[in-house]
Amino acid sequence: MAYKDLKSFAVLQLSGCAGCEVALLNAGEWVDDYRLVYMPLVISSHAVPEVDLLLVSGGIRTDEDLYNLRRAARKADQIVAIGTCAISGGIASLGNQDDVRKMFLSQPERRNIPRILPKCSPIDDYIEVDQYLPGCPPTPELFLILLSSEKQPKMPMTVCQECGREKKRDMRPQHLVGFQQGEVLPDICLINQGYLCVGTSTRGGCRALCTRPGHPCVGCRGPSDALIMKDAEAWFNTISRVFSSMTDIPADELDAALRSPQLALYLFQFSDYADPEKGPRQKEKVL
Ligand code: SF4
Ligand code: SF4
Repeated sequence: MAYKDLKSFAVLQLSGCAGCEVALLNAGEWVDDYRLVYMPLVISSHAVPEVDLLLVSGGIRTDEDLYNLRRAARKADQIVAIGTCAISGGIASLGNQDDVRKMFLSQPERRNIPRILPKCSPIDDYIEVDQYLPGCPPTPELFLILLSSEKQPKMPMTVCQECGREKKRDMRPQHLVGFQQGEVLPDICLINQGYLCVGTSTRGGCRALCTRPGHPCVGCRGPSDALIMKDAEAWFNTISRVFSSMTDIPADELDAALRSPQLALYLFQFSDYADPEKGPRQKEKVL
């Protein structure tokens, strides 16, 4: 998809962290070409005016989010969900957990904020979305491709394709190395070094932003095309197969790490792409 006749666009921020907005601002090259008419982080305006394109970040956590989304969507020709929160709920969906909900309900100050909905939802639970730009946040380069490309290029299948680290046959770790512990060898695949890297099953396009300097990929770009229409178990099994072919890490150790809170924000969250009830989340719509 390309937004060829794009002149004005708006950014609606729902429940999230504003990281997507900062990444968009870091991709400043669009400033001379398009008019940004609404983005509460930098432009004060009561309501979204009519626009060619509406970018939406953040999940639907409150009744105010829902009101703002519906009101803005009516005025936009096309809508793009940007970032993990708009696509899957993201950070605000951590509040779906019982213990977090209980803690929140015990606080009297909760009466001073908009009414919290029973669960945090992706925006396409409520409105139709034309395109998805996953990432937490998407890189500035991906924002530029979204806004400026005459024809958007096909993304690399996986983070591994952009990473450049070599997978070794003779380097099989026995256990996982803790998150960001130990010394990272340059040029050698992080799995060979015992790190829980899920770049083998994660959509490319970020230029392996984390893995090249030595941080394992946590999967923020969502599933690769091969997994995008499959359920969470298929994604989980694929990662397990990669680790059993490259390491001697016990399966239960790997399972526990894959299901840990550390990865909960990204891994498997996008697996509702596979739910036919959730609308047309075909891979063609994902940048
Ligand atoms: S470090 Fe991660 S992204 Fe890089 S090659 Fe290994 S598995 Fe793939
Ligand atoms: S390497 Fe993985 S976690 Fe890092 S930006 Fe890319 S997809 Fe996201």
